Amino acid sequence: MEGTIIKAYGGFYFVRVAEEIYRCAIRGKIRRQLGQALVGDRVRVQPVNAQEGVVEEILPRRTELIRPPVANVEQAVIVFAVKHPDPNLALLDRFLVQAQAAGVAPVICFNKIDLADAAELNIVNHYKPAGHPIVRVSAKTGINLDDLREILRGRITVLAGPSGVGKSSLLNALQPGLGLETGGISRKLKRGRHTTRHVELIPLAGGGLVADTPGFSSMFLPPMRREELAGYFPEFGVYEPQCRFAGCLHHREPGCAVKEAVVQGQISSLRYQHYLDLLTEVIEAERRY
Ligand code: GDP
Ligand code: ZN
Repeated sequence: MEGTIIKAYGGFYFVRVAEEIYRCAIRGKIRRQLGQALVGDRVRVQPVNAQEGVVEEILPRRTELIRPPVANVEQAVIVFAVKHPDPNLALLDRFLVQAQAAGVAPVICFNKIDLADAAELNIVNHYKPAGHPIVRVSAKTGINLDDLREILRGRITVLAGPSGVGKSSLLNALQPGLGLETGGISRKLKRGRHTTRHVELIPLAGGGLVADTPGFSSMFLPPMRREELAGYFPEFGVYEPQCRFAGCLHHREPGCAVKEAVVQGQISSLRYQHYLDLLTEVIEAERRY
């Protein structure tokens, strides 16, 4: 049988095969060969009975996220509230870079749209040219949750986003009976160093697995070359070939087509400003290596 490890606990791996969960030991030989299996790993399981089995093989990993430590994550749903709290778009842009740099496709999710007026919903206009999928939802009223369900179906997803934007509320709305605490600080969607070792994947009734620990960090970009950063702003790519200099960083270079597109309003000047801020950070980090 083939399945996905959704939890590691007490020396056992809990493997989801179709709708069933098997508590599995892992063959010592395999453990020595491949090192530690990760939550999210696809494995081949030999069943022992209806609840227990043995992991016989760890199938090749496509991606490996560090924070949280989950294999085969396909996408990151980056959640911000349209208000309460006001969205920090510099932080959103940082998460977008982190996800792409980790090889994970970002989805932008604006929650709490029940609180926003039409003008406040226009915030998405900064992001449309980037081409990442965008959903606007309310965990409270349930509006557009089907769009989110559709995105999560059949994939392994991490949620990212600051505290208070409604990540736990969204999971509760998608999976009635899940019962994550919201608005509190105790047993909600887990966070922090002490809990990430016990990350679990939550199976959703609509299909798909979501990590119970938020992804990435608000602090650090991964090490990268300064030329790499613009690649994580997909809307720049349309204009970049017209820049006068190859390897243009779209900063102070003359004849920069990206800067011109900002002036013409084709690229959001806010996005561009965040790019420059992150570029400064990447260059400073480069110097430290
Ligand atoms: P988390 O820290 O990202 O997991 O956020 P929570 O799920 O704990 O939500 C933070 C607060 O926002 C709670 O008081 C929720 O009741 C509230 N909240 C979450 N989603 C919505 C929404 O769609 N609309 C409104 N009005 N409030 C929401
Ligand atoms: Zn340029």
